[in-house]
Amino acid sequence: MMDVIIAGGGPTGLMLAAELRLHGVRVVVLERDAEPTGIVRALGLHARSIEVMDQRGLLDRFLALGRQYPLGGFFAGISKPSPERLDTAHAYVLGIPQTTTDRLLAEHATEVGAEIRRGCELVGLSQDADGVTAELADGTRLRSRYLVGCDGGRSTVRKLLGVGFPGEPSRVDTLLGEMELTAPPETLAAVVAEVRKTQLRFGAIPLGDGVYRVGVPAEGVAEDRSVPPTLEEVRRQLQVVAGTDLGVHSPRWLSRFGDSTRQAERYRVGRVLLAGDAAHIHPPVGGQGLGLGIQDAFNLGWKLAAEVGGWAPEGLLDSYQSERHPVAADVLANTRAQMELLSTEPGPRAVRRLVAELMDFEDVNRYLIEKIIAIGIRYDFGEGHELLGRRMRDVKLKRGRLYELTHGGRGLLLDRTGRLSVAGWADRIDHVVDGSDELDVPAVLLRPDGHVAWVGEDQQDLLARLPKWFGAAVG
Ligand SMILES: Cc1cc2nc3c(=O)[nH]c(=O)nc-3n(C[C@H](O)[C@H](O)[C@H](O)COP(=O)(O)OP(=O)(O)OC[C@H]3O[C@@H](n4cnc5c(N)ncnc54)[C@H](O)[C@@H]3O)c2cc1C
Repeated sequence: MMDVIIAGGGPTGLMLAAELRLHGVRVVVLERDAEPTGIVRALGLHARSIEVMDQRGLLDRFLALGRQYPLGGFFAGISKPSPERLDTAHAYVLGIPQTTTDRLLAEHATEVGAEIRRGCELVGLSQDADGVTAELADGTRLRSRYLVGCDGGRSTVRKLLGVGFPGEPSRVDTLLGEMELTAPPETLAAVVAEVRKTQLRFGAIPLGDGVYRVGVPAEGVAEDRSVPPTLEEVRRQLQVVAGTDLGVHSPRWLSRFGDSTRQAERYRVGRVLLAGDAAHIHPPVGGQGLGLGIQDAFNLGWKLAAEVGGWAPEGLLDSYQSERHPVAADVLANTRAQMELLSTEPGPRAVRRLVAELMDFEDVNRYLIEKIIAIGIRYDFGEGHELLGRRMRDVKLKRGRLYELTHGGRGLLLDRTGRLSVAGWADRIDHVVDGSDELDVPAVLLRPDGHVAWVGEDQQDLLARLPKWFGAAVG
């Protein structure tokens, strides 16, 4: 019997597997596809996901294979400079294809001891008081204490649980692919500039070696979006939208995506949980989906590990849904709004112009970009200091950086006073006495996901707060 089965080896499932392994949880990832996909969906990581990689010691690997771009232009593609003094050490977009992100996360998960089984499709599940039984397409049965569905937008786990997935169906589809084209660069640049004056769902981004990532609105909405378009269909739509097919040829891959917006009614049914696209889908405007899934995993991992390890306080696992459901609901709302702003209709275009004007106010620009890069999230931990419930940005310490202290995924008491103690929780929490000029509070208690659970200097106050997140003292 495993501790946790994860259905789906995309970024969410792989991140979750690694997080669980940091706490010694025995975990297996079941991935339906025998080989990693060559289709590149996400093109990059925003600040909070970059921070998550840094918090687990993965940043150098990602930086080595990515390119840093300025942060402007991410809200509905409205071109504005990045606001200054964002509250992060990573105020850039890290351009890195999802195929590379998936590979790096798989390597990390394997290094920390997760087992990834490819070519294993989950087709059935049942649960009882002690555990979950998963049935695979080849008839194999596996048993675990918990199971997490990280199996994407068409999640089998979600359907088997009978969890509702209310929302809006797709209204517009977009064809996407990587291909070569014969149009000379000057012609391409002129066509792109002209068409994008009104149609922002069209684009052709050079990827090097004569290959372009081409996106163009589809004719209608596909019944089955998993069926890729043909090159002929792409050519036809390019003619309709751009007046030329740009001479596209030799596609590496072709796909289509829609703009449906849906969210699971519940993230947990007994011993089975949902995370990532299995729990929420939305159009890719602003590039938030992969980050949202990684951050679901970051929130869930230590909580599920605490449950498996037997030290979870009452309600800890349920706080996964109460914290993460509102975050995804907010992303769904902002992507819906962005889709309206991409419309070619005169009304939405007038609203777009107005939003663009408002974004000249620094505070508006900052508010919108902080949503997209997910650094402004504050979980509801009750009344208290302004840091409470927020993730703590990386700060310089006398002996290094804060995020260097969090690679093991444990809680952390960062203490400038030298008078505090977490004795009784030392198996779950590191205590570091150090100071930072960038930190103007006496001490902070960080959860394993880097969110601030307590701020103060009083030992009794700290002792009153510790059990809420870290369970009972031992010894
Ligand atoms: C065109 C496009 C561009 C995007 N750009 C961005 C971007 O720039 N930034 C960003 O953050 N996000 C972006 N996204 C969104 C991002 O790609 C997804 O949100 C992300 O892949 C979700 O990760 P996941 O692990 O939850 O699901 P998935 O990546 O869908 O992974 C699910 C995995 O589960 C497997 N699986 C499915 N069913 C089963 C089963 N029954 N048993 C076992 N395995 C199963 C699948 O094979 C798959 O590997 C984009 C999406 C699209 C379509």
